[in-house]
Amino acid sequence: MFYNTDYIMMVMLPTFLIMMAAQWYVKSAYSKWSRVPNRSGLNGAEALRKLIDRAAAYGVQVDTGNGDLRSLRMEMIGGNLTDHYDPRQKTIRLSPAVAQQPTVASVAIAAHELGHAIQDHEGYFPLRLRGAMVPAVQIGSYLGWILIFAGLLLNLTGLAWIGILVFSSGAAFALLTLPVELDASARARRLLFESGIIASGEEQRGVNHVLNAAALTYVAALITAVLQLLYFVSLVSGRRR
Ligand SMILES: [Zn+2]
Repeated sequence: MFYNTDYIMMVMLPTFLIMMAAQWYVKSAYSKWSRVPNRSGLNGAEALRKLIDRAAAYGVQVDTGNGDLRSLRMEMIGGNLTDHYDPRQKTIRLSPAVAQQPTVASVAIAAHELGHAIQDHEGYFPLRLRGAMVPAVQIGSYLGWILIFAGLLLNLTGLAWIGILVFSSGAAFALLTLPVELDASARARRLLFESGIIASGEEQRGVNHVLNAAALTYVAALITAVLQLLYFVSLVSGRRR
């Protein structure tokens, strides 16, 4: 019922192509700008240290109800483009290349993760909402499938619609991810330019290229989530006729 030709052509194939294109674009932007040294000579770890130490000078509220930003931890993690902020451990994890190499791509990615840490620190609402949605999305992706499947199998259209509603939490999550990511990148740009870590027009262009490419992967994830949702909607609404 689910894995028919329609599903392959309308959901799986476009999803595969969109994700591949987005991955290719982010990797090519990263590989281009990870070969260009930045003029400040700072690697990702050093740039983070400088930005955190002087955050207040760049208009960041250092001491909120969430503690002092300067107690933020930094660790290294294996792999490539594995960089992330862990809100539970209040830790920024940087991949070896980002942490150790003084390139345009390194400081762009490190500052983006600091952007997430500052969001968390300031209680940025879309981030909190997204965090609260995680358990619902994890259950919803399975439960939604089961309800849609059961609804179609038993000819209970109402049940299938409830399944779609539950399943749509995944698309809502992907949608909410966009403002969180764009805001983290906007904060990264501001911090890098105001601190002088990134100076020239060419370096600014590089930072924008890397950050925009990364944002595009989240747009791709949203498109594929909506495609899947639309397919289920067409499947269930087709039943009603
Ligand atoms: Zn991010």
